Amino acid sequence: MQIDLTGKRALVTGSTEGIGYAIARQLSRAGADVVVNGRSEDKTAKAAARLKSEGPGGKVKSAAADLSTAEGCAALVAQIPQVDILINNAGIFQPIDFFDAEDEVWDRHWQVNVMSTVRLSRAYLPGMQKLNWGRVIFLASESGFNIPVEMIHYGVSKTADIAVARGLAKRMAGTGITVNSVLPGPTLSEGVETMLAEEQARTGLPLEEVAAAFVKQHRSSSIIQRAATVEEVANLVTYLASPFASATTGASVRVDGGVIDTL
Ligand code: NAD
Repeated sequence: MQIDLTGKRALVTGSTEGIGYAIARQLSRAGADVVVNGRSEDKTAKAAARLKSEGPGGKVKSAAADLSTAEGCAALVAQIPQVDILINNAGIFQPIDFFDAEDEVWDRHWQVNVMSTVRLSRAYLPGMQKLNWGRVIFLASESGFNIPVEMIHYGVSKTADIAVARGLAKRMAGTGITVNSVLPGPTLSEGVETMLAEEQARTGLPLEEVAAAFVKQHRSSSIIQRAATVEEVANLVTYLASPFASATTGASVRVDGGVIDTL
């Protein structure tokens, strides 16, 4: 199977690093024209330059915008008015016990993880509808099923993503547009590296070993018993973004290493 996305315009939110950057790289290698997004102009431009240098691939553009507000989402849409593939990847996660998580924590996770996906889907789906082709992919999480006790606010936001994606898939019924959620398990992104930094400093162990210990302790149902790589997640996203995945819509597709223990 050769995935060819030549001529497709893709926007990957939050793609200066982590899973988002890996997705941007894979889509670009498959020939798509890719827009890289992050909060700061400088970091976003650097990520776009890095992506170009890692070519060959489609055209690469940089569009900085902070997606934690309605204004930030509107600023991104003003820069990039139309796309064929929208990857709602930007997301934040911060372990805080329920009794310490003030409203601000809940609101911040809701705005970035849920409202940015709502606002961008609302902006880009009509353009896809005119062409009768489109792909919208939400980076949800296994945490949307297995609500993590150390960050209930995060789990709830990811459950909401899965619900929005399912609802939108049905809203787009009978068109060439598919809408799906991808559910990664623990994945060694820069964000997770930061989360594990203290433990790594304390133990002096290599990052992969610290990540595997985290998985065994906090996601003990993991079948692969390690963190996934960002490329392993990007592979699935790239397939779902391709014309080959035209009969998969409204689905929550797992790349969680088997963490979710259901059939
Ligand atoms: P990361 O922290 O490594 O990278 C996050 C990216 O999002 C960065 O490019 C950052 O600049 C961007 N971002 C954050 N806030 C933003 C904002 N307000 N506006 C624009 N961009 C913003 O994260 P990651 O681990 O690669 O996670 C990517 C997605 O995958 C998230 O939605 C996350 O919830 C989900 N996910 C991650 C894991 C994991 O273990 N890494 C597991 C399941 C789901």
